[in-house]
Parts: sequence; C-alpha cells; structure tokens
Amino acid sequence: MSDTSAESIRAERLNGIELSLIVRIQERANALRAEGVDIIGLGTGEPDFDTPEHIKEAAVQAMRDGVTKYPPTAGSAALKEAVCAKFERENNFVYAADEVMVSTGAKQVLFNAMMATVNPGDEVIVVAPYWGVYADIVRMVGGVPKILSCPASDGFLLQPEALEAAITPKTRWLMLNSPSNPSGACYGPAEWGGLIEVLDRHPHVWLLSDDIYEHLVYDGQRYAHPLAIQPALRERTVLVNGVSKAYAMTGWRIGYAAGPKALIGAMTAVQGHVTSGASSISQAASVAALNGPQEIVAERRDIFQERRDSIVAALNEAPGIDCLMPDGAFYVLPSCAGVLGGRAPSGDVIDSDLTFCQYLLDTQGVAVVPGTDFGAPNHFRISYAYARDALIEAARRIKVACETLEFDA
Ligand code: PLP
Repeated sequence: MSDTSAESIRAERLNGIELSLIVRIQERANALRAEGVDIIGLGTGEPDFDTPEHIKEAAVQAMRDGVTKYPPTAGSAALKEAVCAKFERENNFVYAADEVMVSTGAKQVLFNAMMATVNPGDEVIVVAPYWGVYADIVRMVGGVPKILSCPASDGFLLQPEALEAAITPKTRWLMLNSPSNPSGACYGPAEWGGLIEVLDRHPHVWLLSDDIYEHLVYDGQRYAHPLAIQPALRERTVLVNGVSKAYAMTGWRIGYAAGPKALIGAMTAVQGHVTSGASSISQAASVAALNGPQEIVAERRDIFQERRDSIVAALNEAPGIDCLMPDGAFYVLPSCAGVLGGRAPSGDVIDSDLTFCQYLLDTQGVAVVPGTDFGAPNHFRISYAYARDALIEAARRIKVACETLEFDA
C-alpha cells in the first residue's frame, strides 16, 4: 500500500535536510526572549550595525522613481557595472558585464552554481569546519559532499596533501571560504600557493571561492585571493560575494557572482526559473553600497577586531574552553573538549558539544551553535557581530557554566 502520510510528500533529495541548526537555535532564543527569559543570542552571523543611511536613501529613491518592475534576470545593468567596478577597484580583476550576475543573497549564488553544474554522483570537496549550507546544497542537487576535516592544530586550514588525496575523476568543485565561517581562518599567499599547485595538477576541478568576508581580515593583514596568485585559475573559478556582511545588509538579500561567461549563463538560467532575479529595490540600494563611500567598511572592521580580542581573551578564562585567535570574519570556534565528562547540577553529563550548548542555553541563557553543525564536533561557534557588552556578559556566563560543572576525581 502506498504511503499516504504527510511526511511522504518529501522528495528523497531532502533526506537528512532540515532548516539549519543556526536558524532553529535563533528561533528558540527569540521564543525564550519573548517569554521574558534573559537571553544572549550569539548564534547568527549578522552585523548588529544598521545599514548606512545613504544606502537606505537609494532604495527609497528607487521606489519613487518606479524601479519596481521585474529586473533583468542576471541583475540590473547598474548593479552589474558596480560589481565589475568593485572587482577592478578592490581586487584588480577585470570582469565583463556578462561574466557577473546578481542573486538573492550569496546563498542563492551558491545554489545556482551547484544546480547548474553538479550531475548526480559528482563530488564536491567541502572543507570542514564548514558552513553547513555548503554540504546541504550539494546534497540537494544530487552531488556528494566530500568533507575534509581540518583540525585546530592546522589552524582549521586545508592542507595541500589532503586536497590531493581527496581529488578523484568525479571531483567537480573545491568550495573554499576565506576568511572562514565558522572558524575565522584565513588562507594567506603561502597557504593558497600550496592548494593552487594541487589544482594546477587537476584541471578538471573548479574552484568556488566564497569571499563574502573579504573585508574582515584583522591585524593589518592583507586579504589574499587565489586569482591574484594564479590568474590562470580564472577560467575555472567562480567568485561568490555579496553586500550582507560588508555593508550590514543581510535583510536586503543581495549577493553576486563572477566567473566564465558559460558558467554565469548556466547559473542565470537556473535563477530565471527560481526567482526571476533579485529585488529591484535592493539592487538599487546595493549600487549605492558598492559605489558609495567605503570608509565605513574599514571602521566596522576595526570594531570587529576589538570585539574579537575581547571575546577570545574572556573565553580563554573559562576552565575547559580553548579558543584560537582567528584572523578574520566575525566568528570564534572554541574547543569545549575540556568540559566533556563534567556533571551539571541537574545531574546531566556533558558528553558532546550539543549537550554543552543546550546546557549553556538552559542554565545561562546563552545561545551559541554546536560545532557539530559545522563538521567540528567538540567545538561551538560564537558570532561576535554583537555589542561588546553582550559578548563580555556571555563569556562571563559561559565561565560560570564551566566552573559549575563537577568532574569525578
Ligand atoms: N557564505 C558564507 C560563508 C556565509 O557565512 C554566508 C552567510 O552567513 C553566506 C555565504 C550568505 O550570505 P548572504 O546570502 O546573506 O549573502
């Protein structure tokens, strides 16, 4: 007899795919807050700053000017021009208008790229700790994520030997994100150099370089880009970027891609059937973001660096917690291996990052995301895109939670 349950409506391609744990934790934190519980939510990677005023103004003006119709599928001419100008100005890369496209967030760029290129059974190398969305998108389109774990002892960075060993004739893509969500790790010229040598030996492997945190590199370091090191890779690279993180525009939902014309064409075909293109008003706002004053980006980077320094120092005071100093993005990924085996006052034993994060939420009202969601068990991710006071208070509560645990002698 055929299955008539409501669950049976789900397609097999959705097996194991749920709303991300980050979203669920944030929703849980919001619900508790609404009940009056004192919650500090550090789950979401979203700058606490507001979108700059001149960007909002551009959106209002666009509405007044009647920019309210279907946009061109690949993005408005003005935004594509601003994207090309951004690449030339900031990265010294020359892309033509038909080599870039605009989507509903960088997330849709990722989806378009995978949907347009991955055949069933194709392998995509995903570097762990990873942003969980990567692996799920690959699965959704019928590909196989090949997850390479990079331990803290390697600075959470992919090593060339591991990449070499993972490549097979079926490998379609290497997906890399530097600076990284969730570890904050950055690939410098030397690290990229080693990986590029491997890619040079395997011309069938394409590179997806997710550069969404490119402006958030700290301690005066320069952002290193693989195409600046090996320009020949351009023929098999897609750049993923967007305005969400750099300009505090997460809600506007604008991301963009650059790559070979044939790839951008295939991705545009996907997008045409999914959204018809990104919001015309958000696109007008993004033109103002990319073409307008850029000082704010560096000012906010400096604020994030101060927050990073404060949160890392405070976390390392908690017994059992070990936090590396990341080079970029706005995340830390401390190890909680040192608290495993501890007994909470409730009698529950902390046996994983999942139970530790639950314990933090239940007893201290601190919402953070278990490392398991990022392929990094025994760790947890904190987003420090929040006010410094909230971060320091969260770290204080985490310390109390750790001190409260009892260990068998
Ligand atoms: N890539 C990475 C690594 C991210 O962390 C995020 C958001 O958290 C995105 C892409 C997507 O950004 P958006 O869709 O807001 O442009």
